[in-house]
Amino acid sequence: MDFDFEFVLEGFALGLDGIVLGFLFKSYESCSAYIEALKEAEQVDIADLGQFSAPKSRNRSWFQFWKSNPTPSKDTSDSHRYVCVRGRVEPVDNSKLLQSNDKLSTGVIHRVVTKEIATVRNGSRFWVEEERVVKNVQHEVPWRLRPEETRSKQSVQISDGLSADHLDMTVVRDEFTPAPLSFSAWLGGWVAGQQLKGTQEVEEIIMEGSLVTAVGELVVNSDGTMYIRSPSSCNQRFPFFLSNMPFNDLLSTYENLVSVCKWSILLFGGVGAVICYLMIRNRLRQRYNRRRTTSEDDILRQLQQSRLPPDENPQGDWQRCVVCLTNNREVIVLPCGHVCLCADCMILINQQEQRNCPVCRQQIVNIARAFVS
Ligand SMILES: [Zn+2]
Ligand SMILES: [Zn+2]
Repeated sequence: MDFDFEFVLEGFALGLDGIVLGFLFKSYESCSAYIEALKEAEQVDIADLGQFSAPKSRNRSWFQFWKSNPTPSKDTSDSHRYVCVRGRVEPVDNSKLLQSNDKLSTGVIHRVVTKEIATVRNGSRFWVEEERVVKNVQHEVPWRLRPEETRSKQSVQISDGLSADHLDMTVVRDEFTPAPLSFSAWLGGWVAGQQLKGTQEVEEIIMEGSLVTAVGELVVNSDGTMYIRSPSSCNQRFPFFLSNMPFNDLLSTYENLVSVCKWSILLFGGVGAVICYLMIRNRLRQRYNRRRTTSEDDILRQLQQSRLPPDENPQGDWQRCVVCLTNNREVIVLPCGHVCLCADCMILINQQEQRNCPVCRQQIVNIARAFVS
Protein backbone atom coordinates (compact mmCIF):
# COMPACT_ATOMS: atom_id res chain seq x y z
CA MET A 1 0.00 0.00 0.00
CA ASP A 2 1.37 3.39 -0.93
CA PHE A 3 2.05 6.18 1.54
CA ASP A 4 -1.21 7.91 2.47
CA PHE A 5 -0.41 11.35 3.87
CA GLU A 6 -4.03 12.09 4.75
CA PHE A 7 -4.28 8.89 6.76
CA VAL A 8 -1.11 9.73 8.71
CA LEU A 9 -2.41 13.24 9.42
CA GLU A 10 -5.75 11.91 10.64
CA GLY A 11 -3.98 9.35 12.81
CA PHE A 12 -1.77 12.06 14.27
CA ALA A 13 -4.81 14.26 15.07
CA LEU A 14 -6.59 11.30 16.66
CA GLY A 15 -3.55 10.51 18.81
CA LEU A 16 -3.27 14.11 19.96
CA ASP A 17 -6.99 14.16 20.76
CA GLY A 18 -6.54 10.96 22.77
CA ILE A 19 -3.70 12.47 24.81
CA VAL A 20 -5.79 15.58 25.62
CA LEU A 21 -8.77 13.37 26.53
CA GLY A 22 -6.61 11.25 28.83
CA PHE A 23 -5.29 14.34 30.58
CA LEU A 24 -8.84 15.71 30.96
CA PHE A 25 -10.12 12.42 32.37
CA LYS A 26 -7.33 12.37 34.91
CA SER A 27 -8.04 15.96 36.02
CA TYR A 28 -11.75 15.21 36.14
CA GLU A 29 -11.14 12.21 38.36
CA SER A 30 -8.81 13.95 40.77
CA CYS A 31 -11.05 17.05 41.03
CA SER A 32 -14.10 14.86 41.68
CA ALA A 33 -12.20 12.99 44.38
CA TYR A 34 -11.19 16.33 45.95
CA ILE A 35 -14.82 17.51 45.96
CA GLU A 36 -15.96 14.28 47.57
CA ALA A 37 -13.30 14.61 50.26
CA LEU A 38 -14.11 18.28 50.92
CA LYS A 39 -17.79 17.43 51.35
CA GLU A 40 -16.88 14.76 53.88
CA ALA A 41 -14.71 17.10 55.95
CA GLU A 42 -16.17 18.05 59.28
CA GLN A 43 -16.43 21.81 59.77
CA VAL A 44 -14.96 22.65 63.14
CA ASP A 45 -14.41 25.92 64.92
CA ILE A 46 -10.89 26.06 66.32
CA ALA A 47 -12.27 27.40 69.61
CA ASP A 48 -14.36 24.21 69.92
CA LEU A 49 -11.47 21.81 69.28
CA GLY A 50 -11.03 21.35 73.03
CA GLN A 51 -14.01 18.97 73.07
CA PHE A 52 -11.96 16.30 71.31
CA SER A 53 -9.91 14.31 73.76
CA ALA A 54 -6.94 12.18 72.94
CA PRO A 55 -7.27 8.47 72.38
CA LYS A 56 -5.99 6.34 75.25
CA SER A 57 -2.69 5.40 73.69
CA ARG A 58 0.09 7.99 73.43
CA ASN A 59 0.64 10.03 70.28
CA ARG A 60 -1.59 8.03 68.06
CA SER A 61 -3.58 9.61 65.34
CA TRP A 62 -7.30 9.15 65.09
CA PHE A 63 -6.84 7.09 61.97
CA GLN A 64 -4.35 4.73 63.57
CA PHE A 65 -6.58 4.40 66.57
CA TRP A 66 -9.51 3.60 64.36
CA LYS A 67 -7.55 1.10 62.31
CA SER A 68 -6.23 -0.79 65.30
CA ASN A 69 -9.77 -1.07 66.68
CA PRO A 70 -11.90 -2.36 63.81
CA THR A 71 -14.89 -2.54 66.15
CA PRO A 72 -14.62 0.61 68.27
CA SER A 73 -16.62 0.47 71.42
CA LYS A 74 -18.46 3.67 72.31
CA ASP A 75 -16.78 6.70 70.75
CA THR A 76 -17.12 5.73 67.09
CA SER A 77 -17.74 9.33 66.06
CA ASP A 78 -14.40 10.42 67.49
CA SER A 79 -12.34 7.72 65.87
CA HIS A 80 -12.18 9.17 62.37
CA ARG A 81 -11.61 12.88 62.04
CA TYR A 82 -11.10 14.60 58.73
CA VAL A 83 -11.69 18.22 59.63
CA CYS A 84 -11.82 21.66 58.10
CA VAL A 85 -10.76 24.63 60.22
CA ARG A 86 -10.18 28.26 59.38
CA GLY A 87 -8.01 30.53 61.43
CA ARG A 88 -5.30 33.11 61.62
CA VAL A 89 -1.68 32.11 60.93
CA GLU A 90 0.70 32.36 63.85
CA PRO A 91 4.22 30.99 64.30
CA VAL A 92 4.77 28.69 67.28
CA ASP A 93 7.97 30.56 68.04
CA ASN A 94 7.78 34.29 67.25
CA SER A 95 11.57 34.57 66.92
CA LYS A 96 11.63 32.08 64.06
CA LEU A 97 9.57 33.92 61.44
CA LEU A 98 10.55 33.64 57.78
CA GLN A 99 11.11 36.80 55.74
CA SER A 100 10.53 37.50 52.10
CA ASN A 101 13.63 38.52 50.15
CA ASP A 102 12.56 42.19 50.17
CA LYS A 103 12.06 41.97 53.98
CA LEU A 104 8.58 43.48 53.61
CA SER A 105 6.56 40.38 54.47
CA THR A 106 6.97 37.77 57.16
CA GLY A 107 5.39 34.36 57.26
CA VAL A 108 5.60 30.70 58.15
CA ILE A 109 6.15 29.05 54.76
CA HIS A 110 8.44 30.68 52.22
CA ARG A 111 9.20 29.36 48.77
CA VAL A 112 11.21 30.68 45.82
CA VAL A 113 10.85 28.73 42.59
CA THR A 114 13.13 29.53 39.65
CA LYS A 115 12.09 28.22 36.25
CA GLU A 116 13.88 28.30 32.95
CA ILE A 117 11.56 29.02 30.06
CA ALA A 118 12.74 27.84 26.68
CA THR A 119 11.35 26.93 23.30
CA VAL A 120 12.43 23.42 22.46
CA ARG A 121 12.31 21.56 19.16
CA ASN A 122 10.65 18.26 19.95
CA GLY A 123 10.76 14.91 18.17
CA SER A 124 8.27 15.93 15.48
CA ARG A 125 10.30 19.04 14.56
CA PHE A 126 7.86 21.51 16.14
CA TRP A 127 9.03 24.24 18.50
CA VAL A 128 7.16 24.13 21.80
CA GLU A 129 7.53 26.17 24.97
CA GLU A 130 8.95 24.29 27.90
CA GLU A 131 9.36 25.16 31.58
CA ARG A 132 11.95 23.56 33.76
CA VAL A 133 12.30 24.12 37.49
CA VAL A 134 15.96 24.81 38.10
CA LYS A 135 15.74 25.86 41.72
CA ASN A 136 13.15 25.35 44.44
CA VAL A 137 14.06 26.81 47.81
CA GLN A 138 11.41 26.30 50.48
CA HIS A 139 11.32 26.70 54.22
CA GLU A 140 8.70 26.15 56.86
CA VAL A 141 8.73 26.97 60.55
CA PRO A 142 6.34 25.34 63.06
CA TRP A 143 3.06 27.23 62.89
CA ARG A 144 -0.50 27.08 64.04
CA LEU A 145 -3.96 28.48 63.44
CA ARG A 146 -5.76 30.60 66.02
CA PRO A 147 -9.50 31.27 66.06
CA GLU A 148 -10.40 34.09 63.72
CA GLU A 149 -12.30 36.33 66.12
CA THR A 150 -12.22 35.29 69.74
CA ARG A 151 -9.06 35.42 71.81
CA SER A 152 -9.45 31.82 72.82
CA LYS A 153 -6.41 29.93 74.07
CA GLN A 154 -7.20 27.04 71.74
CA SER A 155 -5.05 26.63 68.66
CA VAL A 156 -4.17 23.90 66.22
CA GLN A 157 -0.73 23.31 64.78
CA ILE A 158 -0.17 22.55 61.11
CA SER A 159 2.28 19.75 60.49
CA ASP A 160 4.36 19.81 57.30
CA GLY A 161 2.27 22.31 55.36
CA LEU A 162 4.63 21.96 52.40
CA SER A 163 3.35 18.42 51.85
CA ALA A 164 -0.19 19.71 51.19
CA ASP A 165 -1.87 18.45 48.01
CA HIS A 166 -3.36 21.89 47.51
CA LEU A 167 -1.23 24.76 48.82
CA ASP A 168 -2.24 28.36 48.19
CA MET A 169 0.35 30.97 49.03
CA THR A 170 0.55 34.70 48.54
CA VAL A 171 2.77 35.65 45.62
CA VAL A 172 5.06 38.48 46.72
CA ARG A 173 7.27 38.57 43.63
CA ASP A 174 6.95 37.26 40.08
CA GLU A 175 9.86 38.33 37.90
CA PHE A 176 10.80 37.37 34.38
CA THR A 177 14.38 38.00 33.28
CA PRO A 178 14.80 37.66 29.52
CA ALA A 179 17.87 35.82 28.32
CA PRO A 180 20.53 38.10 26.75
CA LEU A 181 20.13 38.26 22.97
CA SER A 182 23.08 37.51 20.78
CA PHE A 183 23.36 36.04 17.32
CA SER A 184 25.85 33.34 18.33
CA ALA A 185 23.65 32.22 21.22
CA TRP A 186 20.67 32.13 18.89
CA LEU A 187 22.56 30.09 16.29
CA GLY A 188 23.89 27.70 18.91
CA GLY A 189 20.38 27.31 20.33
CA TRP A 190 18.95 26.68 16.90
CA VAL A 191 21.47 23.93 16.21
CA ALA A 192 20.92 22.38 19.65
CA GLY A 193 17.15 22.65 19.21
CA GLN A 194 16.65 24.75 22.33
CA GLN A 195 16.28 28.54 22.65
CA LEU A 196 16.38 29.93 26.17
CA LYS A 197 13.82 32.72 26.52
CA GLY A 198 14.58 33.67 30.10
CA THR A 199 14.09 32.75 33.72
CA GLN A 200 10.99 33.21 35.83
CA GLU A 201 11.33 33.61 39.57
CA VAL A 202 8.24 33.34 41.75
CA GLU A 203 8.41 34.04 45.45
CA GLU A 204 5.49 32.97 47.63
CA ILE A 205 4.77 33.16 51.33
CA ILE A 206 2.07 32.17 53.81
CA MET A 207 1.89 35.41 55.73
CA GLU A 208 1.74 35.76 59.44
CA GLY A 209 -1.72 36.93 60.49
CA SER A 210 -3.41 35.88 57.23
CA LEU A 211 -6.48 33.66 57.23
CA VAL A 212 -5.99 30.07 56.13
CA THR A 213 -8.41 27.20 55.64
CA ALA A 214 -6.86 23.84 56.53
CA VAL A 215 -8.51 20.54 55.62
CA GLY A 216 -6.72 17.46 56.87
CA GLU A 217 -6.44 14.81 59.51
CA LEU A 218 -6.80 15.97 63.09
CA VAL A 219 -4.33 14.42 65.51
CA VAL A 220 -4.70 14.91 69.26
CA ASN A 221 -1.74 14.20 71.50
CA SER A 222 -2.24 12.88 74.99
CA ASP A 223 -1.13 16.24 76.43
CA GLY A 224 -4.04 17.91 74.66
CA THR A 225 -2.04 19.61 71.88
CA MET A 226 -3.49 19.14 68.45
CA TYR A 227 -2.26 19.28 64.94
CA ILE A 228 -3.54 18.86 61.43
CA ARG A 229 -1.51 16.84 58.99
CA SER A 230 -1.74 15.16 55.63
CA PRO A 231 -4.00 12.09 55.91
CA SER A 232 -1.76 10.36 53.39
CA SER A 233 0.84 9.94 56.12
CA CYS A 234 -1.21 6.91 57.19
CA ASN A 235 -2.41 5.77 53.78
CA GLN A 236 -5.72 7.57 53.73
CA ARG A 237 -7.19 8.59 50.41
CA PHE A 238 -8.11 12.07 51.60
CA PRO A 239 -6.11 15.05 50.38
CA PHE A 240 -4.60 17.79 52.50
CA PHE A 241 -5.65 21.36 51.66
CA LEU A 242 -4.15 24.64 52.78
CA SER A 243 -5.85 27.59 51.17
CA ASN A 244 -6.43 31.27 51.79
CA MET A 245 -9.94 30.84 50.34
CA PRO A 246 -12.91 30.22 52.63
CA PHE A 247 -14.17 26.64 52.49
CA ASN A 248 -17.10 27.33 50.16
CA ASP A 249 -14.88 29.14 47.65
CA LEU A 250 -12.42 26.26 47.73
CA LEU A 251 -15.24 23.83 47.05
CA SER A 252 -16.70 25.90 44.22
CA THR A 253 -13.25 26.27 42.63
CA TYR A 254 -13.09 22.49 42.28
CA GLU A 255 -16.71 22.30 41.18
CA ASN A 256 -15.98 24.81 38.41
CA LEU A 257 -12.91 22.83 37.38
CA VAL A 258 -14.98 19.66 37.20
CA SER A 259 -17.56 21.28 34.96
CA VAL A 260 -14.82 22.73 32.70
CA CYS A 261 -13.32 19.22 32.46
CA LYS A 262 -16.73 17.73 31.71
CA TRP A 263 -17.42 20.13 28.85
CA SER A 264 -13.91 19.77 27.46
CA ILE A 265 -14.24 15.98 27.53
CA LEU A 266 -17.48 16.31 25.57
CA LEU A 267 -15.81 18.68 23.10
CA PHE A 268 -12.67 16.61 22.54
CA GLY A 269 -14.70 13.40 22.54
CA GLY A 270 -16.81 14.93 19.76
CA VAL A 271 -13.69 15.96 17.84
CA GLY A 272 -12.36 12.41 18.17
CA ALA A 273 -15.66 10.97 16.92
CA VAL A 274 -15.59 13.31 13.89
CA ILE A 275 -11.98 12.30 13.07
CA CYS A 276 -12.93 8.62 13.36
CA TYR A 277 -15.94 9.19 11.11
CA LEU A 278 -13.78 10.96 8.49
CA MET A 279 -11.16 8.22 8.62
CA ILE A 280 -13.74 5.48 8.10
CA ARG A 281 -15.53 7.42 5.36
CA ASN A 282 -12.31 8.11 3.46
CA ARG A 283 -11.23 4.50 3.77
CA LEU A 284 -14.60 3.29 2.42
CA ARG A 285 -14.56 5.82 -0.39
CA GLN A 286 -11.06 4.78 -1.43
CA ARG A 287 -12.08 1.16 -1.40
CA TYR A 288 -15.16 1.91 -3.50
CA ASN A 289 -13.11 3.93 -6.00
CA ARG A 290 -10.56 1.17 -6.32
CA ARG A 291 -13.24 -1.41 -7.00
CA ARG A 292 -15.00 0.82 -9.52
CA THR A 293 -11.72 1.47 -11.35
CA THR A 294 -11.06 -2.24 -11.72
CA SER A 295 -14.55 -2.90 -13.06
CA GLU A 296 -14.16 -0.02 -15.57
CA ASP A 297 -10.75 -1.37 -16.63
CA ASP A 298 -12.38 -4.73 -17.28
CA ILE A 299 -15.03 -3.17 -19.54
CA LEU A 300 -12.43 -1.24 -21.52
CA ARG A 301 -10.17 -4.27 -21.92
CA GLN A 302 -13.06 -6.37 -23.17
CA LEU A 303 -14.04 -3.66 -25.65
CA GLN A 304 -10.49 -3.50 -27.01
CA GLN A 305 -10.32 -7.29 -27.37
CA SER A 306 -13.70 -7.72 -29.07
CA ARG A 307 -13.07 -4.88 -31.52
CA LEU A 308 -13.15 -5.90 -35.21
CA PRO A 309 -10.38 -4.64 -37.51
CA PRO A 310 -11.51 -1.38 -39.24
CA ASP A 311 -11.64 -2.93 -42.74
CA GLU A 312 -14.07 -5.65 -41.56
CA ASN A 313 -16.17 -3.05 -39.82
CA PRO A 314 -17.18 -0.34 -42.27
CA GLN A 315 -19.06 2.42 -40.46
CA GLY A 316 -20.16 5.91 -41.24
CA ASP A 317 -18.01 8.82 -40.04
CA TRP A 318 -20.68 9.80 -37.53
CA GLN A 319 -19.89 6.65 -35.58
CA ARG A 320 -16.16 7.40 -35.17
CA CYS A 321 -14.69 8.37 -31.79
CA VAL A 322 -14.52 12.18 -31.51
CA VAL A 323 -10.93 12.07 -30.21
CA CYS A 324 -9.02 9.68 -32.46
CA LEU A 325 -11.51 9.68 -35.37
CA THR A 326 -10.40 6.09 -36.09
CA ASN A 327 -12.17 3.59 -33.86
CA ASN A 328 -15.88 3.24 -33.36
CA ARG A 329 -17.68 4.90 -30.50
CA GLU A 330 -17.75 2.18 -27.82
CA VAL A 331 -18.24 3.87 -24.45
CA ILE A 332 -21.09 5.89 -22.92
CA VAL A 333 -19.93 8.40 -20.29
CA LEU A 334 -22.23 9.20 -17.39
CA PRO A 335 -23.99 11.21 -16.15
CA CYS A 336 -24.02 13.41 -19.31
CA GLY A 337 -24.79 10.36 -21.49
CA HIS A 338 -22.61 11.24 -24.48
CA VAL A 339 -21.57 8.28 -26.63
CA CYS A 340 -18.42 9.80 -28.10
CA LEU A 341 -15.34 7.74 -27.18
CA CYS A 342 -13.55 4.54 -28.06
CA ALA A 343 -12.04 2.36 -25.37
CA ASP A 344 -8.46 3.46 -26.25
CA CYS A 345 -9.26 7.17 -25.81
CA MET A 346 -11.19 6.46 -22.60
CA ILE A 347 -8.05 4.81 -21.20
CA LEU A 348 -6.08 7.97 -22.11
CA ILE A 349 -8.65 10.16 -20.36
CA ASN A 350 -8.46 7.89 -17.30
CA GLN A 351 -4.78 8.68 -17.01
CA GLN A 352 -5.53 12.37 -16.63
CA GLU A 353 -6.12 13.98 -13.28
CA GLN A 354 -9.69 15.07 -14.12
CA ARG A 355 -12.01 12.98 -16.24
CA ASN A 356 -14.17 15.24 -18.44
CA CYS A 357 -16.49 14.45 -21.31
CA PRO A 358 -14.76 15.71 -24.52
CA VAL A 359 -18.10 16.96 -25.87
CA CYS A 360 -19.67 18.87 -22.97
CA ARG A 361 -16.73 19.03 -20.46
CA GLN A 362 -18.91 17.64 -17.67
CA GLN A 363 -17.09 15.44 -15.16
CA ILE A 364 -17.25 11.71 -15.88
CA VAL A 365 -18.45 9.78 -12.85
CA ASN A 366 -19.07 6.44 -14.46
CA ILE A 367 -18.79 4.66 -17.81
CA ALA A 368 -20.61 1.81 -19.47
CA ARG A 369 -20.42 -0.19 -22.68
CA ALA A 370 -22.37 1.48 -25.51
CA PHE A 371 -24.20 -0.44 -28.22
CA VAL A 372 -24.40 1.51 -31.43
CA SER A 373 -26.34 -0.18 -34.20
ZN1 LIG B 1 -10.79 7.23 -29.89
ZN1 LIG C 1 -20.90 14.93 -22.41
